[in-house]
Amino acid sequence: MDKLSSPNRAGTGQEQFLTILSRDDALARFEAALFPRAMASVRRPLSAAIGLALAQDVVASIDVPPFDRSNVDGFAVRSADLAAASEAVPLRLVLNEEVIACGTAPSRSVLPGTATTIATGGPLPRGADAVMMVEHTQPIDGRAIEVRRAAAPGQFVAYAGSDIARGEVVLRAGGVVGSREVGMCAACGVAEVSVVRKPRVSVISTGDELVQPGEPLRPAAIYDTNGAIVCAAIDENGGEAVFAGAIADDEAELEAAMRAALMASDMLVLSGGTSKGAGDVSHRIIERLGKPGIVAHGVALKPGKPLCLAVCDGKPVVILPGFPTSAMFTFHDMIVPVLRRMAGLPPRADAKVTAKIPVRIASELGRAEFVMVSLVEGADGLIAYPSGKGSGAITSFAQADGFLKIDALADQMPSGAQAEVTLFTPHVRVPDLVIVGSHCTGLDLVIAPLAEAGLLVRTIAVGSLGGLAAAKRGECDLAPIHLFDEASETYNMSFLVEGLELIPGWRRMQGIVFRAGDARFEGLSAQAAVQSALADPACIMVNRNQGAGTRILIDRLLAGARPDGYWNQPRSHNAVAAAVAQRRADWGMTIAPVAHAAGLGFISFAEEHYDFALVAARKQRPAVRAFLDALASDRSRAALERAGFNKV
Ligand code: AMP
Ligand code: MG
Repeated sequence: MDKLSSPNRAGTGQEQFLTILSRDDALARFEAALFPRAMASVRRPLSAAIGLALAQDVVASIDVPPFDRSNVDGFAVRSADLAAASEAVPLRLVLNEEVIACGTAPSRSVLPGTATTIATGGPLPRGADAVMMVEHTQPIDGRAIEVRRAAAPGQFVAYAGSDIARGEVVLRAGGVVGSREVGMCAACGVAEVSVVRKPRVSVISTGDELVQPGEPLRPAAIYDTNGAIVCAAIDENGGEAVFAGAIADDEAELEAAMRAALMASDMLVLSGGTSKGAGDVSHRIIERLGKPGIVAHGVALKPGKPLCLAVCDGKPVVILPGFPTSAMFTFHDMIVPVLRRMAGLPPRADAKVTAKIPVRIASELGRAEFVMVSLVEGADGLIAYPSGKGSGAITSFAQADGFLKIDALADQMPSGAQAEVTLFTPHVRVPDLVIVGSHCTGLDLVIAPLAEAGLLVRTIAVGSLGGLAAAKRGECDLAPIHLFDEASETYNMSFLVEGLELIPGWRRMQGIVFRAGDARFEGLSAQAAVQSALADPACIMVNRNQGAGTRILIDRLLAGARPDGYWNQPRSHNAVAAAVAQRRADWGMTIAPVAHAAGLGFISFAEEHYDFALVAARKQRPAVRAFLDALASDRSRAALERAGFNKV
């Protein structure tokens, strides 16, 4: 049955998220239902304890060092023997017939008037109370030394227990084991420590549409992204992820999987199906899994509103939103604190920086909103570009350096505001070269050698006009653009202002795409193909968004006609090809490389100029020079032409 049109769905739709909690209230309820709790501990050899929290204090059972030892190479002496020694009064000590190397237990005493040769780390012999450095002595025919300075008692001696005393607490419970802690344990002879057992966290993805990476994608299916993300984030935050796979939206099957997963672990994290509609069953299953059940369903977070938090007989059970970015944010913001606490780990210490917002960011009132940003170096400090492509986008995560938070009570963050950016990694690495504007797969080919040379290149896809605006504000080095000026019938040049310089890029052949073999198009010119499409009422087109250069070309060919599909206006060349390949449309306009990559038929129409607006003030920067060299190189030309572009 169609879940969306079922009466059940319509009925329950009304009761969706009646009680939306603030982020803080939801987290507080979740934590109150979980803590305090006992933490299971296990004994682990040092090498297997890294990153875990100590469950017990580590107490030294020996002194470190275990004996008084020499800190230098020299001679063990009695300080009293040398009390009168000076440059004017050299004193002579007879050498004992023993050399105390590291690991040698001394067998002879140092009697008055004698000294024993000792190496750094050697145990001090009986009778000696100081060490004279070899540099401060003169050998006398191998049997004695001459000394011209006094020795203070204890000089160059490390006393037993001076580093760590027997009985001392060397590491406290709750501390996290790292290489330094391992060193402390090893010095005390401790080979095993008692640590908090990693919480085992079962992960289940839900949805009929999910396929595991590595398997072929069937029609209308997508790869399960959340399974991998959530498992990785659990492992990064002190848990041990156990992936139970993707389960279809079937109540019985899902319940069986959830029960088995919960039984085998300390926590259960699901993703997808968090709405309260009829097709979304996980939250109803949770109510049967244990007490107290759901503590929050619906949180004033964006992305992440449908988050569901529950505790079932002491174990946390969570349903993350389905969209990967939403799943990721809610996991980090709401689940990581709890997971770390269960693992005995301290809260995450995320690095933060302050950066300026170049454009206004609108935000929904009443929900704390997270916005991913890419950082670039501006004239006076860091600039944070919002890089979200909508909650369904995963690339925004990979390309972002961090995120900022817009308060629930704010409806926007104004352009020019200084914002605190939480970094995804401990350090900002500001890119060497910043390219903001229209994206083209050809660009990846040109910047490849820069990346090989160790330069960090950041490309931010905001479209031609957005790139031009960023270039005018001096926020990037280059803005790739393909803007057609109808008045002059030229590309790009007329859009430049003072301070910007046009660097010719390459040409992209635009044309009509159709499924190879479609007799309505095969062998025709672009004009004839469009006439043929218009003549068939069953023929559906796919358009492009207003403002796209491609759209101008389509409108010209259509000359005012509005065939079926005209209002389908995707924002990318690839979406046009996908619509035609998947038979949602019969024709559209895209660039040749994209049509060919999708295995579609293609009729050339017009060449689009993809050029670069260079911020002239930045022309001498080494990374800009490297880019211009790469652009002009034979290697780029060859790569671009292989990919179907025409280098100018
Ligand atoms: P849902 O909450 O189940 O309605 O899912 C919302 C959106 O997220 C839908 O577009 C799902 O296809 C998508 N989605 C759900 N789970 C996953 C997943 N594990 N990986 C990638 N996308 C997902
Ligand atoms: Mg789903």
